[in-house]
Amino acid sequence: MNFDIAIIGAGIAGASAAHELAATYKVVVLERETQPGYHTTGRSAALYTEYYGNPIIRALTIASRPFFERPPPGFADHPLLLPRGVLFVATLDQDPAVDGFLRAAAAAGDSAVEIVRAEALRKVPVLAECALHRSLFEPDARDMDVHAIHQGFLRGLRARGGQVVTDAEIRRIERRGGRWRLHTPAGDFTAARIVNAAGAWADEIARLAGVAPIGLVPKRRTALTFDPPAGIDPAPWPMVCDIEDQFYFKPEAGRLLASPGDETPSPPCDAQPEEIDLALAVERVEAATTLKIARIVRKWAGLRSFVADKTPVVGPSRDGADFFWLAGQGGYGIMTSPAMARAVAALVRGEDLPADLRARNLTAPALSPARIGA
Ligand SMILES: Cc1cc2nc3c(=O)[nH]c(=O)nc-3n(C[C@H](O)[C@H](O)[C@H](O)COP(=O)(O)OP(=O)(O)OC[C@H]3O[C@@H](n4cnc5c(N)ncnc54)[C@H](O)[C@@H]3O)c2cc1C
Repeated sequence: MNFDIAIIGAGIAGASAAHELAATYKVVVLERETQPGYHTTGRSAALYTEYYGNPIIRALTIASRPFFERPPPGFADHPLLLPRGVLFVATLDQDPAVDGFLRAAAAAGDSAVEIVRAEALRKVPVLAECALHRSLFEPDARDMDVHAIHQGFLRGLRARGGQVVTDAEIRRIERRGGRWRLHTPAGDFTAARIVNAAGAWADEIARLAGVAPIGLVPKRRTALTFDPPAGIDPAPWPMVCDIEDQFYFKPEAGRLLASPGDETPSPPCDAQPEEIDLALAVERVEAATTLKIARIVRKWAGLRSFVADKTPVVGPSRDGADFFWLAGQGGYGIMTSPAMARAVAALVRGEDLPADLRARNLTAPALSPARIGA
């Protein structure tokens, strides 16, 4: 089976890139699992926030917003973003973190609003006084419908003639006659170019292809859900986030979703929650609120993968322009996916980044694997 482009991984990165590239090329997406989205993409907190990550991440997030707000016709039959907001909270000893946050926001031209304790309590009445030494509100943060976004990309890809092949773990990659040959249990596939969107396994794919790795470190993050107290409907609450990402909680389908903000390095794997991290989430949420988490309803963990500078890696490898990276999405891969997909598609076509990304001071070298010598 011959293709112009083989994309490895059908998570949000692979699906969004495939959707873009299928407009111009004959594309196949090869996915090891039976279910696309089984790994990190299906395990996120589903939040869109323009206050998260370094300036490059923030620019990619803001550049993605128009796609989420006005997706192509037929992409989804309901809105992809829903109102949520984020309330950042800080204890007395977190004053310097609040000041740093405000400085970074001002430098980026953002308008983080510091609000008084009474207003924070009006938004989330279960917050404890000690957690509300200072608080900031981001009104424009949104809940994302991750399933609809992911399925929209995959449906759009198929409508453009692209294919998704599941149960197709790449086990061997060869370079013959200027083309790649990918060996999988679902058959062999040849392609002129590879896009490596394999999430936590992206460095393993590079090694199979004989390409220099980027030093990707997958980091486990844990989440759980629990019931709110009887008679309390948390649906209108914003997400509550510790100013230093030590915990967060947010409404989730009638329940509350919480995380201890853990970042434990892990080999690429089907990540599972550890008891210690679940206990930390419970302890931190209970310390910051009047909530009591008597029972964990659901628990899970996923791998957020980073390179050293915590900026995604998008672009051709140094070893040859036929191997493209789309990796290192960290904790921002859903909300940045439309912009990153357009970026990698432009680079595959041999163009510069799209004009709207360049207008946000994004450059191909800043995203390129060359910046880390790969
Ligand atoms: C708890 C948690 C909360 C998060 N919250 C948010 C949030 O609120 N907002 C946000 O934007 N992001 C969030 N993220 C981050 C986001 O989920 C990730 O950045 C994003 O899902 C990464 O997508 P991906 O496609 O790169 O990886 P994945 O979804 O992991 O996809 C990679 C795919 O590659 C496949 N693959 C690997 N090796 C092979 C092989 N050899 N052959 C074939 N296929 C292969 C895998 O099976 C997998 O399906 C969160 C993550 C976690 C864990």
